[in-house]
Amino acid sequence: MGKKAQKAYLELSTALAELPEPPQCADERYKHMFFVEPMDVGTPDALAMRIIRQNEIDAKLICDFCKVKALCAEYAITAHEAFGVWGGTSPTDRKAIYASVRATATGLPATPLLFD
Ligand code: SF4
Repeated sequence: MGKKAQKAYLELSTALAELPEPPQCADERYKHMFFVEPMDVGTPDALAMRIIRQNEIDAKLICDFCKVKALCAEYAITAHEAFGVWGGTSPTDRKAIYASVRATATGLPATPLLFD
């Protein structure tokens, strides 16, 4: 983990520790929405992908009410978290952000890279 990601992680950890109670993504009833992967719902067919997308939508709604949302998203983006919903961003959202940043830096179109 790079220094920026370490700093973002520390800031997120500090903010989480100051919450009156753990965030809802840590609740056993909702955890599955945040870190679902194709293998968790069987083969990565269309139904599995629909379940994953719906879980992401539900997780993002929970993030919208979380007091550490901005710090959580900042950490996930900085650390290039490949999996899960963090701070209201899905892996696809984060790939789009990286592509946009690359496009701004290089002047090339914002096409997400495969295996990013
Ligand atoms: S913003 Fe979302 S993923 Fe981050 S701590 Fe809050 S509920 Fe969990």
